[in-house]
Amino acid sequence: MAEPIRPERSGQLFERALRSIPGGVNSPVRAFRSVGGTPRFIAKGSGAYLWDVDGRRYLDFVGSWGPLILGHARPEILAALERVMADGTSFGAPTEAEVVLAETILAAFPGMDQVRLVNSGTEATMSAIRLARAHTGRSLLVKFAGCYHGHSDSLLVKAGSGAATLGVPDSLGVTAAVSGQTLILPFNDGEALAEAFAARGGEIAAVIVEPFPGNMGLVLPHPGYLEELRRLTAASGAALIFDEVITGFRVAYGGVQTLYGIEPDLTCLGKIIGGGLPVGAYGGKRELMALLAPEGPVYQAGTLSGNPLAVAAGLTTLRLLQELQPYPELAQRTAAFAAELRALFERAGIPATVNQAESLFTVFFNPGPVVDYESASRSDRERYARFFHAMLERGFYFSPGQFETCFLSTAHGSADLEQALSAVRDALPELG
Ligand code: PLP
Repeated sequence: MAEPIRPERSGQLFERALRSIPGGVNSPVRAFRSVGGTPRFIAKGSGAYLWDVDGRRYLDFVGSWGPLILGHARPEILAALERVMADGTSFGAPTEAEVVLAETILAAFPGMDQVRLVNSGTEATMSAIRLARAHTGRSLLVKFAGCYHGHSDSLLVKAGSGAATLGVPDSLGVTAAVSGQTLILPFNDGEALAEAFAARGGEIAAVIVEPFPGNMGLVLPHPGYLEELRRLTAASGAALIFDEVITGFRVAYGGVQTLYGIEPDLTCLGKIIGGGLPVGAYGGKRELMALLAPEGPVYQAGTLSGNPLAVAAGLTTLRLLQELQPYPELAQRTAAFAAELRALFERAGIPATVNQAESLFTVFFNPGPVVDYESASRSDRERYARFFHAMLERGFYFSPGQFETCFLSTAHGSADLEQALSAVRDALPELG
């Protein structure tokens, strides 16, 4: 889709990047492929705002895809990084701060006895699955269509997020032998779940789920669905893995499991626990975690795992979240924003569904309800692209892909959101 104004310096950098980096980006969604136009190269962020290299300012609804619940360049996090950095950036040996971060995470997740830090959400989910397979002695993995759990082979089957946006939910390069070990079910479909367990329950090593899927756009579980998942996995001896890489410390000081009172066997974390630096973590019941090397026979390691800078940023973020307890206010503000968006689209006669939970929301151009990947896929993605560009031109940075969630931070004030709503009002005639 053409864009009226070509951002000059971003355009030059993108052309240069295309020569040295595949697609010009280090993660596909950044390339604006599905919405078209020139990706903005970012010069800096502060609070709720981003500035691009052409000097334009944007209210940021992406927040680096979730980690920045406290906004950009939060002074306490920067100060912690400076303090830690002065003593060195990596040791490849244990540090006290890693233990404190592990203890802090465990205190927030009652179902978790131990946790291991890794460098990304991908590593966390990949390792959790290995552990579940080792524990059960089974191979089959159940995953839901449109959920994204990172880019390890067994999870790039009907994957959401950029993989869905780019039309490669089943990546080439994943062998049939590997994808054959992943059984795909539709999210929120209790019957399909019951049938799968009735037919193959004894083969299932693990069910992995984003308890609030964010990678087909935001979708919420039907009442009782997560509880049913817990019941069926427990009854068949399969591990239940909650991928709370997005939702961990985002929907509560804890995760969706805190809101629902459900204890999965394993939980994957990332994003917020690294405060904007590369981190992941997986943790769970002692009987599973004890299988990990050097205690047990399941191998997993990392040169930079528990990196002092990432740990300091994560720890400072979690301390601030515990002090501020921003969740009720964030949820209220996001709910009000989503309600206003719905009203605007409705008055304009534009079929839209705005799914929202806590500080997460997605605009689908689809009358809804959007409850799974199939209904999310029925959204008008060309209209989404028009919406995205109309807002970008007005200084509002929404997700450059339909199959993503948007994020609010504590730095998004009511005045910022009012401005966003007036911009949507102004942009409505362009969405038609
Ligand atoms: N799981 C979920 C739910 C995610 O949203 C993501 C990334 O967005 C991942 C796992 C993978 O995390 P990472 O990109 O840090 O590898």
